[in-house]
Amino acid sequence: MTSDGKNGMKVIAIDGPAGAGKSTVGRAVASRLGVDYLDTGAMYRAVTYAVLRRGVDPHDVAAVEDVAMSMELDIRDVDGATQVVVDGEDATADIRGREVTESVSAVAANSAVRAEMVERQRGWVTAHGGGVVEGRDIGSVVFPDADLKLYVTASTRVRAERRVAEIGGDVDEVEASIIERDRKDSSRADSPLVEASGAILVDTSGVPIDAVVDRVLEML
Ligand code: C5P
Repeated sequence: MTSDGKNGMKVIAIDGPAGAGKSTVGRAVASRLGVDYLDTGAMYRAVTYAVLRRGVDPHDVAAVEDVAMSMELDIRDVDGATQVVVDGEDATADIRGREVTESVSAVAANSAVRAEMVERQRGWVTAHGGGVVEGRDIGSVVFPDADLKLYVTASTRVRAERRVAEIGGDVDEVEASIIERDRKDSSRADSPLVEASGAILVDTSGVPIDAVVDRVLEML
């Protein structure tokens, strides 16, 4: 393993706030390049799911660490969608639910959880021979030497409107929850959401995601 953690393999890092279109862009880039795609947000969501399932308080640092170290987590892409199995149970739908979404930032602020997930993410890249990795700290912490770093963002209103178009809900409420999650993710002590040095800023406000994907693919 070389010091850059990716051992000469091609890594594309995509970071940005909640609901900015990172997954759509990431999947399109992965498919164009013929490489695999990892949604690291799904990993933090899976830990949160296990925490809640075991009745643990998401703010209980030691207990949450125990869950992260002892849980069985299987994450894989099946037909272009991330499938997550936690302790033998399919958690694919539940990790996107309101309960998990409300607690995930607290769990993701836990340094022991982060250390464990970062190790798994680097292991995933080694096992897959590189790939597109999406999250909050990929270009800044996990793979600072990534071959391409994108910071995908959009206004909170646009992000809320897109989310409502996908899964329904009230735009004001969804926007408030996005603002709150971004605040927590950007202000935590360990690996906060930041624009990594060397990242290309992609603002998707007012641009259809398909057009963004085309632009990024041209960039490549
Ligand atoms: O990407 P998604 O919105 O599913 O991520 C869920 C949460 O997981 C984020 O709000 C953040 O708290 C956490 N996360 C993180 N680091 C990553 C990816 C996600 O802290 N690399």
